[in-house]
Amino acid sequence: MIAIIGGTFDPIHFGHLRPALDIAEQLALKEVRFIPSATPPHRWQPVASTEQRLAMVKLAVTDMPIFSVDDREYQREGASYTVDTLKSIRDEIGSDESLCMIIGFDAFQSFTQWRDWKGILKLTHLVVSSRPGYDQHEIEDWVKPYHCNNPKELNKKSSGLLYFANVTQLDISATFIREQISKGKSAQFLTSNTVNEYIIRNKLYEIE
Ligand code: ATP
Repeated sequence: MIAIIGGTFDPIHFGHLRPALDIAEQLALKEVRFIPSATPPHRWQPVASTEQRLAMVKLAVTDMPIFSVDDREYQREGASYTVDTLKSIRDEIGSDESLCMIIGFDAFQSFTQWRDWKGILKLTHLVVSSRPGYDQHEIEDWVKPYHCNNPKELNKKSSGLLYFANVTQLDISATFIREQISKGKSAQFLTSNTVNEYIIRNKLYEIE
């Protein structure tokens, strides 16, 4: 079973990396692909350039053999929609391989506003990671047909299930890191040393 995790990664931090590892261990994943988004359709444009964000993701994943970087959203012109990314991954891995898309609970809250979200769930499972500050009160009606409690079920189908994963709670966001740096403070211990050194070397996020 393969998983993907998309994001702006502006910059990538331990709140991305540790939950991804928790989920890899819980689901016995063979690979987790980090997919930086080129032009995020739903939000403001990133501060660091696409090349810089990609470089930081590459630095962050080198210590973990099952982690890799997939830059396919950079190869495509225009807005990168998740459903298109998933179609292109499916073309490569075939329809039988079990595929999971990891998203944090914050992103999950707007999932039904994503382009063709039902189509997304035909192409992948959804694994929703807990995130500090975002509590789940009850399972919404639309979730129920997809909901699965037992992670072993994910391996039995290639797509179409939704699983809530409990992960290490790290109250870190890229916004917080950018704010810290713009105030002249350090991002040490919020992300890997290699990413932190890259940020310093390239003077990223120094101006608010
Ligand atoms: P920003 O603060 O710039 O909005 P972010 O820290 O939320 O960025 P993104 O690149 O937007 O990071 O997130 C990519 C994915 O990782 C999203 O699905 C998001 O929910 C998830 N994620 C980010 N930070 C955490 C965290 N601390 N714990 C769990 N999931 C997280």
